Amino acid sequence: MLKSRVQQVRSLIPATVRYGPLYRRQLAFLMDSQWQDPAALEACQVQQLRSLLADAFRNVPHYRELSRQLSLRAEDFRELADLRQLPILTREDVRTRQEELLSEKVPPSARLRRYTGGTSGSPLGFVAEGGRTDPLERAFVARIWSWFGVRFEDPAVLLRGYALSPRVLKSGTYWQRWYPERNWFGFSSFLMTRENLPKYAAKIREINPVLISCVASDLDLLAQFWLARRLPPLPRLKAIHQSGMLMYPDQRERFEAAFGARAFSTYGQSECTVLASECECSTRYHVFPEYGITEILRHDGQPTARGEVGEVVATGFNNHALPFIRYRTGDLAAWSARPCQCGRKFPILESMEGRGQYMVVSEDGLVVSLNSILYGSHLPELKAIKRLQVHQEEPGRLRILVVPTGEFTSEVEADFVRALWNVVDGRMNFQVQRVNEIPYRAGEKFKVLVQSLDVDWWAGYRRAATGPPDGSGS
Ligand SMILES: [Zn+2]
Repeated sequence: MLKSRVQQVRSLIPATVRYGPLYRRQLAFLMDSQWQDPAALEACQVQQLRSLLADAFRNVPHYRELSRQLSLRAEDFRELADLRQLPILTREDVRTRQEELLSEKVPPSARLRRYTGGTSGSPLGFVAEGGRTDPLERAFVARIWSWFGVRFEDPAVLLRGYALSPRVLKSGTYWQRWYPERNWFGFSSFLMTRENLPKYAAKIREINPVLISCVASDLDLLAQFWLARRLPPLPRLKAIHQSGMLMYPDQRERFEAAFGARAFSTYGQSECTVLASECECSTRYHVFPEYGITEILRHDGQPTARGEVGEVVATGFNNHALPFIRYRTGDLAAWSARPCQCGRKFPILESMEGRGQYMVVSEDGLVVSLNSILYGSHLPELKAIKRLQVHQEEPGRLRILVVPTGEFTSEVEADFVRALWNVVDGRMNFQVQRVNEIPYRAGEKFKVLVQSLDVDWWAGYRRAATGPPDGSGS
């Protein structure tokens, strides 16, 4: 079990191994397509959509039946608006009717199991397409990095909720070198205690990275430490790249002040339906048309006007094993009317809401991201949970209300608690409480975390504890 967990952690590193021909072809295409005009980009989207639908209508039971009922043929989809003939796909659909949504053409051995939580409190297991989803995904990330002037070969520090292998932890380090030829160092954000922060800082200065890739809430602790100790910026750093949640304006300022490079944010999803990134000229999200089709819809399902906030509904091109077609993401955004100076003609998001940063406090006062704990390691036990809500009343203790499925046996529960405990290296306790439902008021966003502690106070306490502003180096 230990071995499989380490492998899972490795699979979280998005862009390292197996740079196959598909990756190279896709990257070459993307470096070129980013300068195409909107008509050419839309033609490419329609072509990709037809290929996705032709496959789904033939090989995916749910869509085969739908195409029969509605007499749909892939070749009849001639423009993006034609997509609206198809129904919306919800998270609940993917959870409860997954068998009907899987492509019969992709053999079980080529189905990569994935788990995600997002901000909805309802874990979701799904599959990606082996040999295709990841190389394509990597090519998109490589293009984003190219906007920062960073190459994949450059030394990079990755700071996320990684569960490091016990062997590494035993040796007293909190980072792991991923694929040494690529110069990437994965640092665990779970172990940034007061005692460990100086070691993190020293190692990062030694690596002297060109890029820091992170979740904003994780890097914040390190940035605060860096500023409090008045450590010098990293001389080679070209970019700080955050993805996974929103980055608050004060965090962006701290990151740039501490490390001495521009901070960029990317919006994406584990389900691989939408990808959007800030460019070198602005802090607005450029939505990648080659990645999928992104709609923003009102409650009544009609497209929003420019500037009007609605829900992001997205169709991803890179996973034919379980095609996400018109998938409700639960994220809120609005289209921008202003083009970007960079010259790319991608649709641009004016605002992006949701994706809050749910933070919990460990026994020793460390403030860490709940999402990283729950979903950073793709724990298979999540599949057996319908919905969950975490309550924290005291540091180091999390009470998890679980609406279980029939598969959530007491063994699975014990495995789940043990796995979470491993993820945070034993520095938090988890108590599962089974419930039939978790009540919340209609019209309100479901709360994944009910936090009774004053997280800002704890973060401030950490700031104070990491040393006085005039403290001497690490
Ligand atoms: Zn731009």
